[in-house]
Amino acid sequence: MPHQYSLGYAIGLDTLDELSSFREQFYAPYLHGKRATYFLGNSLGLQPKNTQDEVLKIMEGWANFGVEGFFMGNDPWLNYHKHITPLLTDIIGAKQEELVTMNHLTVNLHLLMISFYQPTPTRYKIICEAKAFPSDQYALQSQVSLHGFDPANAIIEVYPKQGTELISKEDILAAIEEHGDSVALVLFSGVNYYTGQVFDIAGITAAVHKAGAYAGFDLAHAAGNIKLQLHYWKVDFAAWCNYKYLNSGPGAIAGAFVHEQHLAGKLPRLEGWWGNNISNRFKMEKTFTPSVTAESWSLSTTPMMLLAAHKASLEVFAAAGFENLLQKSKALGEYLFFVLTHINQPEEKFTIITPQNSDERGCQVSLSIHQNAKAIFDTLMPLGIFADWREPNVIRIAPVPLYNSFEEIFIFADTLRQLLNQ
Ligand SMILES: *Cc1c(COP(=O)(O)O)cnc(C)c1O
Repeated sequence: MPHQYSLGYAIGLDTLDELSSFREQFYAPYLHGKRATYFLGNSLGLQPKNTQDEVLKIMEGWANFGVEGFFMGNDPWLNYHKHITPLLTDIIGAKQEELVTMNHLTVNLHLLMISFYQPTPTRYKIICEAKAFPSDQYALQSQVSLHGFDPANAIIEVYPKQGTELISKEDILAAIEEHGDSVALVLFSGVNYYTGQVFDIAGITAAVHKAGAYAGFDLAHAAGNIKLQLHYWKVDFAAWCNYKYLNSGPGAIAGAFVHEQHLAGKLPRLEGWWGNNISNRFKMEKTFTPSVTAESWSLSTTPMMLLAAHKASLEVFAAAGFENLLQKSKALGEYLFFVLTHINQPEEKFTIITPQNSDERGCQVSLSIHQNAKAIFDTLMPLGIFADWREPNVIRIAPVPLYNSFEEIFIFADTLRQLLNQ
């Protein structure tokens, strides 16, 4: 049945949606006594209502047991991380031993590049997407400089074709082939933060391996948003933050993946006591005896309050079921494209930068507004719609399946229609 452009129709879709009640499990901003439409899950996911309780349990353990909280109480902290990995395997598409929860995203990118970017005089280049998230650009530049190379010729950026915003797979593969055995590392995002474009992680990884290099991915905008199969795709390493689609709070503890095939190997790595095998961790011996898991990359005492917030959020994902969420995400996206296309005729007032095909995007859709973009954007928030602005004229919205509704998509589109016609 074709979609309809009406509030009643959108509300009808919500009624049929089996996940619609999950929305009530999140706090959301209120404006004029009404729940705002929060389309910023790609920036900072909303707070699950179970998070405060989980964090409080850690606070109580600390109050009651002091440092013995690591070993005492109902849920000793020493093993607490074991709650996390089983909840992540579906979302990341990884085996438990390939996952570690630690630090923050940029820190983890650096730690993993220490292992996976080991340039030689002939093989030293890093291929990445043009207009990568700035922190990633700084990380790449500083890694290259640290090894004594010049970022200007060691970093190869793949650009969109002129007049477009999306980077074609052919151009990525061509760059890998062209630079061939001078490439040490290819580091792409899973989903580009600006355009919402999903990159073909499996295809890129295969081409990178053929060139004899390592393939790493920044999954900040991919984790919890699109289907990932890192193990099966043979990705060498990946890192992501947990405060965007994974709702684990501002500055949340982050995640990293190292493929099984590298776990027992001899990759260089920075080491700290938390990477020790758990049975040896507190023996205070001189020799580092790593666990044969990605946890051997962890350095420092786990921040327990952050881990608790992460666990609380992952439990909501598990209750909803990640496959179900992906299906709803697809349905929300299809309706969003329908209403946006509807309001964008007869006269075209904006361009949808994000690919329409649901295999090539996640929740986020980026709109390049042709006229009065900033003024239109500035009107949205007072009307109770939280969206995101990127210079020069782009509004990004990310309706997420856990707490956004079809009704909100209709209201956004109809508000935008009125603002565009003023
Ligand atoms: C959000 C984001 C970051 C932020 O890095 P932090 O270390 O978590 O502050 C980095 N890279 C990408 C691609 C992002 O989307």
